[in-house]
Amino acid sequence: MSPTSGATAHVTHLVCLVCGRRFAPEEVEYLCPEHGDDGILDVVYDHERIATELSPATLAHDPDRSMWRYRPLLPVSPAADLPPLRVGWTPLYAAPRLGAELGLERLWVKDEGMQPTGSLKDRASAVAVVKARERGAAVVTTASTGNAAAALAGLAASVDQAATILVPASAPEAKVAQLLAYGATVLLVEGTYDDAFALSMRAAERFGWYVRNTGVNPYMSEGKKTAALEIAEQLDWHVPDVVVVGVGDGCIIGGLHKGFRDLVALGWTDRVPRLLGVQASGSDYLVQAWERDEDVVTKPAIAASTVADSICAGLPRDRIKALRAVQDSDGAFVRVGDDAILAAIPALARGCGVFAEPAAAAAYAGLRVAVSRGLVHRDDAVVVLATGTGLKDVPAAMRATGAAGIEARRVTPELEAVARALDLDRTVGRK
Ligand SMILES: *Cc1c(COP(=O)(O)O)cnc(C)c1O
Ligand SMILES: [Zn+2]
Repeated sequence: MSPTSGATAHVTHLVCLVCGRRFAPEEVEYLCPEHGDDGILDVVYDHERIATELSPATLAHDPDRSMWRYRPLLPVSPAADLPPLRVGWTPLYAAPRLGAELGLERLWVKDEGMQPTGSLKDRASAVAVVKARERGAAVVTTASTGNAAAALAGLAASVDQAATILVPASAPEAKVAQLLAYGATVLLVEGTYDDAFALSMRAAERFGWYVRNTGVNPYMSEGKKTAALEIAEQLDWHVPDVVVVGVGDGCIIGGLHKGFRDLVALGWTDRVPRLLGVQASGSDYLVQAWERDEDVVTKPAIAASTVADSICAGLPRDRIKALRAVQDSDGAFVRVGDDAILAAIPALARGCGVFAEPAAAAAYAGLRVAVSRGLVHRDDAVVVLATGTGLKDVPAAMRATGAAGIEARRVTPELEAVARALDLDRTVGRK
């Protein structure tokens, strides 16, 4: 197959975050050739033209309950075949009980666990699969801590696209099981995520695979920005004051920033919310850089380790976009320990019914820290992005409930045993 042009109706150019050089969409595939791994590109749109096709009024009548309702704002050609799995338009739940616990008057939780493969990564992988097919790529690849891989494998399966996935051998079982079930070719790399990432880049170059890797592929944060577009639309175009999200590579928080800026550029909203990035204490590269005002182009990788595997990244790939998102939105980065992350799993589940994996629960744990530090105020409208389902990491959930002293009670299959276990003896006896 000959590669077809990736040009789309509404992308004007891509711009290097390091040197500001501009590229036509067909001129460059991934990174700025001058700046290697750091030369991440930002996608720039013709907002005037988009506004002739899309508006809050047209959206109000659009029955498409998926991320593709924002298609003119996405880097895919109007003729592209879209994958059939339903990605996006996840529920935004009001969470008054959870809010009250933190002293917040208006709190919402957006449940990305409802995505087809169970995490927000589906938003990016859906775009990746469209781009790979535009390019006529035989194989699409990614390195991932697990969720991006599962998302790519699932979306690829839905369109019969071959995928070769590299994950650290330590990835949670459920995520590896998903990859295998979806039919991806899986390489368990004996090393860290950063090792798997470097290896996937070299393999892709050698074997001609299309690369979905976070940061390297400029279109991934475009897919992820649809979470921001949905938050605004679901709140009737009143953007919240604060959006909280767990941060590993920084692609989601960069994407949120992009989505909210698109809406301002279109004139549909008047500001960008403060973006609050939450990292694990054992993987806090961006918190460090933000606190110490370090240059993330030169700051070296740190050793990273946390129970929240999805936000474990020694060298966040999208660190430039992530830092800019927090700085430009007047937001903040906070760190939370693994104990607080685990404790947030049952807290979130009990407080609003959303069962989250550690990296997703970390956002709630971080919000608690931000409130106690006065970074978030009681009258702020706050959205917590619950980025992935708790079923992704059942052992972590068991650890979390165990640590919180929450236990099931074992009974024999008799009514008396139930009465005894629940201390209801007398009630049952009296009838
Ligand atoms: C990937 C992921 C994150 C972090 O996103 P980054 O773009 O790496 O910062 C958070 N939570 C979950 C569940 C994820 O899968
Ligand atoms: Zn450059």
